[in-house]
Amino acid sequence: MAPYQESLEAAFKAALADPRASGEGDFSRLIYRIWAFVEALGAKVSLDHTLPENVAGRIFYDEGEIHLNMPTAAGAALVIAHEAGHWLSYLRAQRFGDPHAPDEATRENMANMFGWYILHRLDIEHLVTKEEWKASNEPD
Ligand SMILES: [Zn+2]
Repeated sequence: MAPYQESLEAAFKAALADPRASGEGDFSRLIYRIWAFVEALGAKVSLDHTLPENVAGRIFYDEGEIHLNMPTAAGAALVIAHEAGHWLSYLRAQRFGDPHAPDEATRENMANMFGWYILHRLDIEHLVTKEEWKASNEPD
């Protein structure tokens, strides 16, 4: 396996084994799987309520930081998965020497695609419906 694929699989494994993320049906704990996943891939996640009210989350690529501004666990699941999608897309581009999606629309599409993939791989896609996912990722 290529190093990129290896570290990705290791991150999925670490997230699935993270003790913070256990608890069948415990919504807020299951969200930690995504948290643990991005941590295993070198990014930091933090709550940041200084972000503008209409900004649910933001990623700082150079710092490897994901900031969340969501008051509810349900909202956080959607946002952290989307931001994790951005991070994965960014890491892939770096690893393969591709340009990181040059325009905003492409970056958002990639984040949505990878975000859903992450939810699926972490076995928590049931936290959000496909409809909620689509609706939350539509541009304002
Ligand atoms: Zn985005």
